[in-house]
Formats: sequence, C-alpha cells, structure tokens
Amino acid sequence: MIASIPSAILLGVDGSPVSVEVHISSGIPGFNIVGLPDAAVRESRDRVRAALLTSGFKWCSSRVTVNLAPSAVRKAGAALDLPIAVGMLVASSQVEHAMVAGYAFFGELGLDGSLRKFPGVISLVSSCDATKAVVPTSCTREASVIPTKEVYGATSLKHLVGALKGEEDWMVAESVDILESVGSESGRYYPDLADVRGQAVGRRAVEIAAAGGHHLLMVGPPGSGKTMLASRLPGVLPPLSYEESLEVARIYSASASPPEWDVLPSRPTFRAPHHTATSVSIVGGGSSWLRPGEISLAHLGVLFLDELGEFPRVVLDSLREPLEDGLVRISRAMVSAVLPARFLLVAATNPCPCGEGMTPGSCRCSKSARERYMARLSGPLLDRFDLSISLAKPQVDELLSMSPGEPSRVVALRVSMAREIARDRGVICNSRIPSWALEQLAPLAPEAMALMERRLRSGVLSARGMDNVRRVALTIADLAGEDPPIKVEHIAEALQLRAARAMFNAEQLR
Ligand SMILES: [Zn+2]
Repeated sequence: MIASIPSAILLGVDGSPVSVEVHISSGIPGFNIVGLPDAAVRESRDRVRAALLTSGFKWCSSRVTVNLAPSAVRKAGAALDLPIAVGMLVASSQVEHAMVAGYAFFGELGLDGSLRKFPGVISLVSSCDATKAVVPTSCTREASVIPTKEVYGATSLKHLVGALKGEEDWMVAESVDILESVGSESGRYYPDLADVRGQAVGRRAVEIAAAGGHHLLMVGPPGSGKTMLASRLPGVLPPLSYEESLEVARIYSASASPPEWDVLPSRPTFRAPHHTATSVSIVGGGSSWLRPGEISLAHLGVLFLDELGEFPRVVLDSLREPLEDGLVRISRAMVSAVLPARFLLVAATNPCPCGEGMTPGSCRCSKSARERYMARLSGPLLDRFDLSISLAKPQVDELLSMSPGEPSRVVALRVSMAREIARDRGVICNSRIPSWALEQLAPLAPEAMALMERRLRSGVLSARGMDNVRRVALTIADLAGEDPPIKVEHIAEALQLRAARAMFNAEQLR
C-alpha cells in the first residue's frame, strides 16, 4: 500500500513543498526514511510510532519506507511528523485515502499523540500543494493570515482522525486582525520623541534618516542619548503596508522563537542585538533550516548596533550584502538560503575607549589608543552611513529648562510626506536613488554646486560621498517642501550632518 501526503519544509524563511510518500510492503520488518532527512526527521520514526500506539492505532510490523520528495533537497525540522503519521494511517488502511485528499499536514508529534507548534507556519502552509491545511491548534491563528488556504486545527492525532471522519469538529481560528495604525498611534508601540530634551542635531538626524532611509551613525559619550534617539526612530517611520506586514510576520514565524500572534506587526520592527551575541544569531543560519538572524528580523525596520566597533569583524563584514542588496545569503553544508534583510541601520559608538573623547580635558586615552579605537571600523562600512553626527552629553540646566520636544506623530507626518514625494520619483526613499539618476532628480542650484566643488577640490569629499550628500540634501529639501534644484543651505546642512566622519581615520575613508 502506498500513500502520498502533501506537506512542506522550511529553507531560511521560505517554504518548499514536499510530498511524503509512505510505502508498506511485506518483507523483513523495518522503517526507513529516505530523501535526505536530517537528524530531527530521522527521529520521526520513534515519535510517530509512540503517537500512533498511544492514540489507539496500529503500528504495522511490515516493511515501511518513507520517501520525502523531491529527494535532492535536505529535509529539516519536526513538522514532517504529522504527514508521516497520516501517511502511515492511510497506507495501512486505518484511514481511507479519500478522506485526506486535498489536505496538507503539518506538525510535530508528542509521544502521547498531541500536536505541537513548529517554526515557519506561515511560509510552510502558504507553499504547500493543497488548499486545505491541517495544523496544530496552537498554529491556527498564525496560519489563518494566509488568504489562499483553508486552515483546520487539531489538538491530537486522535482528534485529527475523528475530524477527518466527520465524527469531531475541527478547531478553526478567528483570523488575525491587522491593526489600523497611523502616525498618531506610533506612541503605542515606541517611545516618543517628545521625551528627548535638547539634542536638536540628534532629533533632526532621526527625522532625516526616517524620511530618506539614510543610515545613521552617532558618535558620543555614554549618556548622550544615542540609544534614546535610536529607539524612537521606528516610531516616526511610516506604518507597514499589508504586504510588508505579512512579509515581516513570515520572517518572525520562521525564527527560532516565533511570537504568539495577537495582531500582525503593523509598525516597523526595532532590533538591537548586543555585540556579544553570536554571529549566527545576528546574521542568521545555524540550525538545519537556516533560521533568520537579527538582521532579517529587522527587515523593513530599524537595526540598531550600539558600540559598533565592538561587534566582531565577521558580523560587520556580513552587513555589506544586506546594505547593498537588502538580503543575506547563508550557506551551510548541503543547504543554502537567501533571507530578506532590508533595514535602516542606526549605529552608535563612543569617541574613544574611555568614552569622554569629545570633552576636552576629560579623555584619559592616549592618541594612539583613540586612533586604534576608531580604526576598528572599516572604511567601506563607514561609507554606508549617509548621516554621521556627534552628540554631546546635555548639561543639567539644559535638561531642566527645556520644554518637551516635538512629539513623534508630528515628525511622522513630515516623514510620510517626504516619502510620498520620493514615491512620485519612482523610489521608496531618496537613499535608493541610483547615482546615474541624481543629475535628473536632484539637480543643484549654482551656489550649491559651487559649495560641492570646493569640498571636492579640498579632498574632504569623494565622488561617492558627493552622491550621498546630494541624496541627503534632497531629503532635507523634501522635508522643507521645496522642489529641486537643491539650494546651498540644504547642501550645507547635509555636509554638517556627516561631520563626525572627520573623527575616524581620514585615510581609510578617502
Ligand atoms: Zn578617551
């Protein structure tokens, strides 16, 4: 007897359809899984056997072969337990073939026959070759965000067979709502810019970073508000569209610890991995399904790297591909995956090892120690930051006298207006305007041109730097509601907002 049950496996954050074929024949009793199973899939045998027996089904003492097709792809994870068990029931005639037609099955089995949650629910269910999907009840809410599939939940193998026979009811989830979220609601998700006292340059840089999608580097001593500013950035970014929200949900669903879904994420995410985190947890990879790392969890949101120079070189180097292409390629033995990773990078660093390098007389570091500290950051990475600002610790009387800053919702309105102008140009944001299109989209007024020329001649600005300045100046003009050609004051502000670059080793920046 043979049965063929549709299911899927996870590769990175993508589902890949798999057909689980179970063949029972006479011969020497045995149980074989073929088709490149990983260790977890090979262990299915014991879980499936225990689950069938404790659920009151028979375990056939004949020769069982389970083939996972296509055979060229390595199969990982425990979500194949359920399709293997259902295949056994059909192949051994304990369940009629017609009853499972049109269904795909997903789930890990407990020894008592209970069905357990598994990673990648959204990707797996949406990729399978069937319109009806049976999942553990703990996964139904998550699976129900997929509009093209009918989702049925079961608590156990016994419940599942009862429901297939029409003797019991399936568990069906109410679908997951997507929150209506506009700028005014941003305070519900992220701290408000109104809490930031003073820090005019920092606030301005946050607004420009959000409006133009410009990566931001902040240099300043501990206590200068770098983390405070960074954590307020996602609150001024535009909310996610439905498609973007689904994409982000898919990535979280495939992560090592999928969240419990109440609503789909409607705001851009904020991820702030510590520099001591493993490179696998930041970049992704590791387990046999190549789980997404922090840089993918920050997709369409903000990735904040505090103490940038303390991150291992391998992590900093691996940021180049996502910063360039918005994705990361991960390869391990026999398996590779491409994961989405398009984030707004915000980084912070102290000016020197003791942190006080910007306060004259306070720094205890030697000149060479300061140079070594700044040289830990590579030029190519620093080049990705369109905005690099220095922040000072606010003075006490400054903190006391200052009234609350402008709230995030007001800033978010200007940001979304600027994004709309960029969309009319055919880009998502100004940082993505290709160099060749700058002449047409961001022409310079004569005075602005003259200022750029002086900077180029003096050697402080490279050709690449000039393009970046132009993109930032265009964003500044958009925020001011002024059409190109770009005025000299906008170029001057854009140049000012990259002034902290001078603190790094000038040679490596060129
Ligand atoms: Zn110092």
